[in-house]
This record gives sequence, structure tokens and C-alpha cells, in this order.
Amino acid sequence: MLAFKNVTKRFGSGTKPAVNNLNLSIEKGEFVVFIGPSGCGKTTTMKMINRLIDTTDGEIKVNGEDVTQKDPVQLRRSIGYVIQQIGLIPHMTVAENIVLVGSLLKWDKEKKEKRAKELIKLVNLPESYLERYPHELSGGQQQRIGVLRALAADPPLILMDEPFGALDPITRDSLQDEFKKLQKEVDKTIVFVTHDMDEAIKLGDKIVIMNEGEIVQADTPEAILRHPANEFVEDFIGKDRLLQSRPDVTTVEQIMNANPITINTDETLKDAIQKMRAKRVDSLLVIDGEHKLQGYIDVEMVDLHYRTSTYVHEAMNTQEYAVQKDSLLRDTVH
Ligand code: ADP
Ligand code: MG
Repeated sequence: MLAFKNVTKRFGSGTKPAVNNLNLSIEKGEFVVFIGPSGCGKTTTMKMINRLIDTTDGEIKVNGEDVTQKDPVQLRRSIGYVIQQIGLIPHMTVAENIVLVGSLLKWDKEKKEKRAKELIKLVNLPESYLERYPHELSGGQQQRIGVLRALAADPPLILMDEPFGALDPITRDSLQDEFKKLQKEVDKTIVFVTHDMDEAIKLGDKIVIMNEGEIVQADTPEAILRHPANEFVEDFIGKDRLLQSRPDVTTVEQIMNANPITINTDETLKDAIQKMRAKRVDSLLVIDGEHKLQGYIDVEMVDLHYRTSTYVHEAMNTQEYAVQKDSLLRDTVH
């Protein structure tokens, strides 16, 4: 779906490249998260895909076609793009904002209305919201509309540059969940940028860690947590997230199928740890009521107040994990 071959971008001759010799391929339907410190070249990489920035060297192919061979306007229409400042148009209704691309594609009024109605269903907002104006929406709702706008023309590829970065943690968390679900339903290829490791672990099928314009490691979240490529990655992901021990399970489905032992949520964390030690379990995966993986935790590390996800963090602070009724703490099976 997307391939980078020796892609380099310099903003001035003789300057240090903003992106240096990038090689990567992304399959159809993959959710790939780019992560790295500020200034490492994430946004530049996104903008080279839809040609808001041209490459200095190398080649980017979308669906087998070199992007430089395409008309930039056509190309941008075929790639969804969501950024932090989505910029809904204030004097247009939500419906008009969602199907903005419809005017370019010469959709008639009926088609636009139909598409807006279809799309708003995807994000759990009532149809009546279509008539509202952007200022009548919360930040989280506006960002949902921004995502829908990128989906309107049904592009196979969507680029998202820190789309949830400006939202409060609770809204961000629920939008992440919603969006991950949505991505599975609509089966899009997503390239997502963040500087938040929790977000990357939660969303990505694959995580691409960048530093100073280069890819340092590209792999599944589990593989990166287990085998960080070097010290930079270790530092970046935080020692607290490293898996000290390695459960033989990698997906939530596998864990559920393996019939894990559930620990009662009315036990204190201390009691739970003792119980896990007795059972010689040395690491945990935290799964919420909807069977989504929320984080990893090493039993030995619990005592050291290691932080893995907000949920675990909260659990540790309160010295018990019965903080969310719908959450279960399950141990993994060796
Ligand atoms: P990120 O999104 O990872 O924070 P960027 O891709 O925005 O990083 O920037 C990568 C590097 O390129 C930075 O050093 C930045 O200053 C530089 N850069 C980005 N855009 C421009 C530009 N238009 N002109 C000159 N330098 C730029
Ligand atoms: Mg950026």
C-alpha cells in the first residue's frame, strides 16, 4: 500500500536531513504508528506521502505508483489526512464539513446528505448533530468530525498526524478506543503519528520509532517492548514498559483462549501479587472489560511502582486495582 525507498528530505542544501534514507513498506489494512521525539521528522514524512512536501531523494509509492508521477491535487484527494488542528470551517454545518470533499468530487446534494448520515453513525454521534456548527461541539466531537471528513471519499490510506494530541486524557482515551474499532470496521490502512508511547502501543499493529530523521526500529509493539533495538529505544519507551519476562502470548485473543486465571477485583494489589508469586506467574497483561489490552506489568515491578498504563498507574497508586468495575486484571499463562 505504501513504500518508502531511500527517502531523504533536506530543507536546505548542506543542512542536516530532516528525514534521512527512510526505507519501509506498509501493507494494506495495517495500522502503523510513527513515534519519536519532537523534530525527528514525523510530520515531514507524512507530508511527503501526500506531497505537501517534496522529497529531496528516493521514492515513495502509494499502491505501487510513484507519488511524484501523480497530480498532487488528485493524490491528496485519494489520501485522508487528519491533523491536530483539523480546522473545521466555522460557517459550515457539521454535515457540510464532513462531506467537504464532495464538492470537489461533484457529488450532488442527495449524495452528500446520504454520505454525511452514513459517516456520523460510525462515531456514535446522533444524526441531529449534522445540523450543528463546529462551535457547538466539544473538542473531542470536533476531532471525530475531522476523522469523518478524512473518511468521506473512502480513501484506502489515511494519514493522521497527532490527531488526538490536543485533547484531554479522558477524551483522548475514548477516542483512541473508538477509532481503533472504527479502523477495523472500515479496514483502512492508517499511518498515525504520535509522541505518546501509550497511544502507540494501544493503537499500532506496527510501531516505527524515529530519531533524528532515521528509523531506529520498526516492529510490533510486543516485539519492541521485548527486544528494544538499542539504548535510545529503551530510554524512549521507558524502562518501566520493558517486558522483563516474556509471556508466550502476544494477542488478547490468545490470552482469552488460554483460559487465564482471573484475580478477584476486590483483592488488594498486594494480595494479588502474593497469589501470583505463589502461582509462579511473573508478568501480567491488563485487560479491560471489552478484552482490550491496556498495558503490561511485571509482577516484580509492581512493587517498584512501575507505570505501564494509566489504568495500572491508578491501580498502583490506590494500592488496589478494583478501581474500575468493568476492568479485570488477569495473569498470563506461561
Ligand atoms: P516532527 O513532526 O517529528 O516533530 P518535523 O518533521 O516537523 O518533526 O521536523 C523535522 C525537522 O525538519 C526539524 O528539525 C524541523 O525544524 C525541520 N523542518 C520541518 N519543516 C521545515 C521547513 N518547512 N523548513 C525548514 N525546516 C523544516
Ligand atoms: Mg510533527
